[in-house]
Amino acid sequence: MGPPYGGVHSSLDSGHIFLMPTTHHTRMLIIGSGPAGLSAAIYAARAGLQPIVVQGLQPGGQLTITTDVENYPGFRDVIQGPWLMEEMQAQAEHVGTRMMWDIISGLDLSKRPFTLTGDSGDVFIADTLVIATGAQARWLGLDSEMAMQGKGVSACATCDGFFYRGKKVVVIGGGNTAVEEALYLTNHSQDVTLIHRRDSLRAEKILQERLFAHPHIKVLWNKAVDRFVGGGTPEVLVGLDLKDINTGEISHIETDGAFVAIGHKPATEVFAGHLPMDSDGYLLVEKGSSKTSVPGVFAAGDVTDKIYRQAVTAAGMGCMAALDAEKFIAEADFEALSTAAE
Ligand code: NDP
Repeated sequence: MGPPYGGVHSSLDSGHIFLMPTTHHTRMLIIGSGPAGLSAAIYAARAGLQPIVVQGLQPGGQLTITTDVENYPGFRDVIQGPWLMEEMQAQAEHVGTRMMWDIISGLDLSKRPFTLTGDSGDVFIADTLVIATGAQARWLGLDSEMAMQGKGVSACATCDGFFYRGKKVVVIGGGNTAVEEALYLTNHSQDVTLIHRRDSLRAEKILQERLFAHPHIKVLWNKAVDRFVGGGTPEVLVGLDLKDINTGEISHIETDGAFVAIGHKPATEVFAGHLPMDSDGYLLVEKGSSKTSVPGVFAAGDVTDKIYRQAVTAAGMGCMAALDAEKFIAEADFEALSTAAE
């Protein structure tokens, strides 16, 4: 069973159950439940701040759609992403974090305490706010891509690769994600094609070497997807029309599955107009800290980091945000005490 969706308070009336919106007060509200949010929660809970974590659309964050993790320190053997997140959540709850299943859809950061509203109707009154909403996969933006999502087009090889066992698959992109997904797909398919819009990859050298050496992976250079082509009844993906970047020539490749791996978009829409962001939508923080320009609001993890984007860096930033927020609360309490004593 999942954590409570907003307020669990219910009333019985003529046999119907109504969820009653509830107001929650907390010293620290954390939005997002990936490594950044849960690390912030662990630190905040251990500091006695009784944090609330609002889990968001993808509880556990991006690692829940990952399989093998071998670069998170502390584990000699390969571990599984979903397992790591379950452990982090259990640890956060064990030390006193309250997990809430909700999505923040409204906020007022103009005065403290801050007021945030969830989709459930619940209201969160928070002395400090840690934003750790992460980032989501980007799509190419073609109509045919949208039409074929779930019918052969996916943005997560580790989630959906299993469905293409023994079939032909393609991966679109040239970064670490694309190369890792292509390599991962060879667990299921012996016919994997990486399609990239340029003639060189931006992925790390070691990953490129593995990719080029793999007998079941081909690379198509200088190609952009023109159209995802469906066929059959019910309709499923049967191929891709590709456009050569240099010549404009259109070619066709047959495939059963296409994995779009062209980067991520930070989940910051709800903060537009409330907090400063860069041109890509990443939240801006003071250099070397997690402080946003609004005192008492902190950001951590992929929502503010387009460079490193690792679980371990996100966890580190979550820790920083909790420590920054804790210091902010201590100073605010001290000021309040001094004022009261005057
Ligand atoms: P990146 O931004 O690094 O790469 C995106 C890729 O998609 C690029 O090759 C880009 O092409 C291509 N692309 C972007 N837009 C389009 C488009 N409209 N049409 C076609 N191709 C497009 O994203 P990743 O998700 O690969 O990686 C994100 C970050 O996460 C990076 O910093 C990466 O190092 C890190 N990462 C690290 C991992 C690890 O350490 N194990 C694993 C996965 C990611 P072009 O090259 O031409 O710009």
